[in-house]
Amino acid sequence: MHEMSLCESILGILNEQAEKEAFSRVDRVCLEVGPLSGVETDALRFGFDVVMRGSIAETARLEIVTPPAMAWCLPCGVNVPISERFDPCPECGSHQLQVTSGEELRIKELEVS
Ligand SMILES: [Zn+2]
Repeated sequence: MHEMSLCESILGILNEQAEKEAFSRVDRVCLEVGPLSGVETDALRFGFDVVMRGSIAETARLEIVTPPAMAWCLPCGVNVPISERFDPCPECGSHQLQVTSGEELRIKELEVS
């Protein structure tokens, strides 16, 4: 499962940060997961629980924020909302779109103690 290895790399980052910034517990992890990132948030939550067990983030609360997927439409010259990567422009139907957001996959905030 892709989400499981993702959680393992998150834990790796947390451990690294813990060493650098000398904290011993993670209370909250806020992840930014774009709708185009290909990550299943249910699977991510499940993987998080499994992977964090016995770690510094065992009791951490997981928050997932999903930014809207947007693309720049060349003919319209504006940012338009999309729901899939290869969606046409909702305004003009053009496929000359360049995804500007929605592919995010990163730790947005950490609360530690
Ligand atoms: Zn357009």
